[in-house]
Amino acid sequence: MKLSQGDYKTRSKFKTDILELENLKNSINTLGEKLGQQDLLRRKLVSDISHEIRTPLNILQNNLEAMIDGIFSVNTEQLIALNDEVIRVGKLLNNLNVLKKFETEDIMLNRERVLLDELICSVCDDFSIISKEKNIELAYNFKSNENYTILGDRDKLKQVFINILSNAVKFTNEGGKVWVNLAKNKHEIIVSIRDTGIGISEQDLPFIFERLYRGDKSRNKVEGSGIGLTIAQNILQLHLESINVESEPGRGSVFTIRFKDTSS
Ligand code: ADP
Repeated sequence: MKLSQGDYKTRSKFKTDILELENLKNSINTLGEKLGQQDLLRRKLVSDISHEIRTPLNILQNNLEAMIDGIFSVNTEQLIALNDEVIRVGKLLNNLNVLKKFETEDIMLNRERVLLDELICSVCDDFSIISKEKNIELAYNFKSNENYTILGDRDKLKQVFINILSNAVKFTNEGGKVWVNLAKNKHEIIVSIRDTGIGISEQDLPFIFERLYRGDKSRNKVEGSGIGLTIAQNILQLHLESINVESEPGRGSVFTIRFKDTSS
């Protein structure tokens, strides 16, 4: 069959009354579809990575050539700017390495009792200085008499909140606001992180959890590598918990994480 030669679009139209053969045909067709999707993602990933590396390399090359030709003077300021580009590529490669670990190795969760209210409070504390510097009001709400305990991997969950909160602060302009809210309903503990930032366009929204995806507006203006949300989603999937996002361009975004409440 063409499928084994890499033609993932091919489908078997073979008709039979034998149930086992019919099931086999359907399984092979589904396999073809899945292989096709994976192939597409693989190609996109390669082209995204080469784009992300090519951009700083181009900047380096153009600037170095201008220095060699005597068009740009070699001064500390220029060298710092070029060094920043080298650091950017280094960070990207590091992030890709972290992501590779999540996707290729059997990541073990170190499950323990986690008090979400305390964990999130410590993450908010970590962001208090940077939000003050940006004149962003960072508010944290929860009920002090509620029990927000879950079973999970404290360090990895901390990473999830760091990634989302750092985006909220990063994509919110001076004078804006970020709220972190912890609430409970009958079966769930719900964490929402809301900001009055630049928001996410309808076209970008379905893709923001994908590897290396960065919204158009953020691609050049704001530092980042498009990996933070992929890692956050991977960690939550390992916990069998979900994350979703709602956003309005120009008004802000809200990321909501739902944990099954096992305390009652
Ligand atoms: P990074 O922030 O490094 O670019 P992420 O994976 O964390 O990568 O996010 C992917 C993209 O999702 C960002 O580039 C940005 O376009 C969009 N995004 C994520 N969080 C927010 C937010 N709070 N406000 C606006 N855009 C966001």
